[in-house]
Amino acid sequence: MKLVQVLIEYANYSLDRPFSYIYKGSKKIDVGFRVLLSFNNRELVGYVVALEDTDKSLEEIEAETGFKIGEIIDVIDESPLLSEDLLSLADEVADYYIAPKISVLQCMLPPSLSPRKSSLKAPKIAYDLYVRSIDESEHGLTDKQIELLRLISSVDQVLKREIKQVSVLDKLIERGKVEVFKVEKRRLAIPNYEYKEPPALTDEQKAVVNQFNNSNDRVYLLEGVTGSGKTEVYLSLSEQVLKEGKSVLMLVPEISLTPMMMEYFIRRFKGNVAILHSELTPGEKYDEYRKIAKGDCKVVIGARSAIFAPLDNIGLIILDEEHVESYKQDTVPFYHAREVAIMRAKKHNAKVILGSATPSLESRARAQKNVYHLLLLNKRINKQELPETTIINLSDYRNIDRDSYIFSKQLREATENVLARGEQAILLINRRGFSTSVSCRKCGHIFKCPTCDIPLTYHKTDNMLKCHHCDYVCTMPEECPECFSKYIMKTGFGTERIEEEVNRLFPEARTLRLDSDSAKIRAKIPSIIEAFRQKKADILIGTQMIAKGHDFPDVTLVGIVLADIGLSMPSYRSNERAFQLITQAVGRSGRKDKKGIAIIQTYNPTNYAITMAARQNYELFYQKEMNYRRMQSYPPYTYLASITLAGKREDNVIFGMTNIIDILNKEFGDNGQILGPTVPYIPYEKDNYLRTALVKFKDYKLAKEILKKIVSLYSGKSQFHLTINIDPYNF
Ligand code: ADP
Ligand code: ZN
Ligand code: ZN
Repeated sequence: MKLVQVLIEYANYSLDRPFSYIYKGSKKIDVGFRVLLSFNNRELVGYVVALEDTDKSLEEIEAETGFKIGEIIDVIDESPLLSEDLLSLADEVADYYIAPKISVLQCMLPPSLSPRKSSLKAPKIAYDLYVRSIDESEHGLTDKQIELLRLISSVDQVLKREIKQVSVLDKLIERGKVEVFKVEKRRLAIPNYEYKEPPALTDEQKAVVNQFNNSNDRVYLLEGVTGSGKTEVYLSLSEQVLKEGKSVLMLVPEISLTPMMMEYFIRRFKGNVAILHSELTPGEKYDEYRKIAKGDCKVVIGARSAIFAPLDNIGLIILDEEHVESYKQDTVPFYHAREVAIMRAKKHNAKVILGSATPSLESRARAQKNVYHLLLLNKRINKQELPETTIINLSDYRNIDRDSYIFSKQLREATENVLARGEQAILLINRRGFSTSVSCRKCGHIFKCPTCDIPLTYHKTDNMLKCHHCDYVCTMPEECPECFSKYIMKTGFGTERIEEEVNRLFPEARTLRLDSDSAKIRAKIPSIIEAFRQKKADILIGTQMIAKGHDFPDVTLVGIVLADIGLSMPSYRSNERAFQLITQAVGRSGRKDKKGIAIIQTYNPTNYAITMAARQNYELFYQKEMNYRRMQSYPPYTYLASITLAGKREDNVIFGMTNIIDILNKEFGDNGQILGPTVPYIPYEKDNYLRTALVKFKDYKLAKEILKKIVSLYSGKSQFHLTINIDPYNF
């Protein structure tokens, strides 16, 4: 009999410790295997973290430990799921982010292998059946059989389903002339791009590569203006690393938005590339994961969670567009791929490159202090000029077009000019849907999401109200539920409303829309982008999704319809977000040989995030924003942690949070600043009331100790659910 220690699949602090079970069966079982067990009368999946043989009886063990010991129902795996290296990474991530260890393991593994009950229904290995000849002597065969045998013998192997003469084939199998064998199938079709001879590096690129090679530093920040050829630097360094027999991990923020990066890597490293990101099907993910684990691919391209790809002997980890916030997971364990990349690189003695035209303030500040090694690319490859940018003050009536409350005179005229020249325009607004909120004109009732308590957005295409935080939808009501008035008012505007306005003002223009509504259908994003690139439309309307690194040669106008939206979001990062978004968007205008313009409409024409972005002046923005962060004690001058308490009774939650804040104040003393309790932006989740506190501190070690104390105090209280987010973004 074996005494086994397992982690339970629930990512909860109170269960974040090994539980003892016994296993009496005969299957192979070891550390790193998943098992099926019963926990509080529920069938769950556990993850084995330790085990030993024992001669003691169950009663003896129970008497010793004082617990009732359950029995493992079944062993799920035949080999351990994670390598030593990833297991120790899981420990480090769980420790740094103060997260339940099982939550980290669940992030690391694809759905088919994840330690959770739902994984048991996830896809398994898929096979293709092939046929090959084993005996070519034709004696005693019919002509038809000889014909087929010769055909099969002429190639190494044939897909069985491609052979249409089924009965002839069956005969050949029966007579031992050919055999059927199975080969693991790769469900993801990797496009078959041609290899392209790489261009000679420019002097600037060469200088960067040399600096990188001549340094022993761990982390490099590659700051290069858009179009300065960062990708070619990544490719060139990757090639070097592969030649040394090591592997490369290439992270991009969202793969469907950056198909070009994938294409470049597939072209250069054909056959050696695996792809991992959230839009793959579970079957595809499973196949890619196993291909990497078996060592069949030495280059992995993927989004955030690909940082956990089971690559061996990593030489280089690249994070492209390192400033993008999707590298931070916004659920437990709240990890940031950049921090995990650095942890992982240390274990492999690998180097990390963080690339961006507009680095996050954290990274740039670290480079300034030589914590990261700064590499600069200042010149655009084909010396394109930056677009000419105009800021339009929407509160000045002289700019307003009487005919439209969305287009200023200038934006309307610029759009007309672009259309007349047969070129293309991009119109961007950081908000999808038709209107931002819907309310009753008579009593003021605001239609809100019953789960999240935030205003619902009206979508005209399907005449529905939608919550942009959860997936709640309802049909547009005809009357107010409070006063039964029929006067329901829609205010604000989003992508849909702009599209309608464009169609009204420019009826001859062809439009495409790209926001996360149209992107709900998986294959749609690349096809919309491709259609626009091929000039099947004149105007592309979208959210920040269209601002990311696409290359549209004929776009000569970028209009930011309302630049203020991001600014009013409750976060210390709102200026940085607005700056990043506008800079990226403006950079889309005027590629190749055509000069472009950009028009930014705003009610805050003097806000420095907007003015600096219009001038594409990262340096000045960086200095101003650092000043602000220093005065307000925000990162990178401090660390942040947020603590959220959830519970069914609001008074309990408030009381609990107040108590936590008392403890924090006492423990931190002068070493931290505690804010709260506050009602978070999403105040209510899954039938639970939420309250949050924020801690600012400089000493991370001290904070970790204190926060772990809070966890141990609160994890046993079943009326509460506690979560901790290290380096949260939305404050
Ligand atoms: P970034 O990622 O810095 O915005 P890219 O890597 O997209 O810039 O490069 C911009 C363009 O310059 C691309 O079309 C790329 O193929 C081209 N390019 C990059 N390096 C070179 C080079 N050494 N010689 C010629 N063209 C290059
Ligand atoms: Zn009403
Ligand atoms: Zn909601």
